Amino acid sequence: MAPRPQCIIYGDQLSNESMVPSKLKRHLYSSHPSCANKDKQYFKRCLEQNKKQKKFMKSAVTVSEKALEASYHVAKLIARQKKPHTVGETLIKTACMNIVRLMLGPNEVKEVNKVSLSADTVKRRIHDMSSDILGTLIKKL
Ligand SMILES: [Zn+2]
Repeated sequence: MAPRPQCIIYGDQLSNESMVPSKLKRHLYSSHPSCANKDKQYFKRCLEQNKKQKKFMKSAVTVSEKALEASYHVAKLIARQKKPHTVGETLIKTACMNIVRLMLGPNEVKEVNKVSLSADTVKRRIHDMSSDILGTLIKKL
C-alpha cells in the first residue's frame, strides 16, 4: 500500500496533488477553521497523538493475529492427541494462564487470555483445518 498524505488534525486522507502550501492552507481554513490560528506547538502535539494512536492500533492487530494463530496451534494439538474439545478451556488455557502468571506476570496473563480456546472455537478450528487438508488433497489427486 502506497503511503498517502494524511491530515494530522482529524486524520482525513489527502490527495498527493494537495501537498502544496497553497492547497494545504486552503484545507486548513475550509476544513478546520477553528485550528487555523493555532501555533506550531499545537500541530506538533496533533502529530504526536496521531503517531501514538497508530502505534496502538498496529499492536492491537498483531496481538489478535497472534491469538488467532495460537488458537489454531492448540486446536491442532487437541485433535492430534484425540482429546475432547473442552480441554482447551478447562485444562490448557487454565494451565497456560497459571504458568504465565507465575513466570511472567499479570499483564502477560491478560494477553494469554485473548487466545480463544472454548470448545466451540476448538471444534471450529479443527473443522477449518480438516477441510483445508481435504481441499489440498483433492487438488493433488
Ligand atoms: Zn484535515
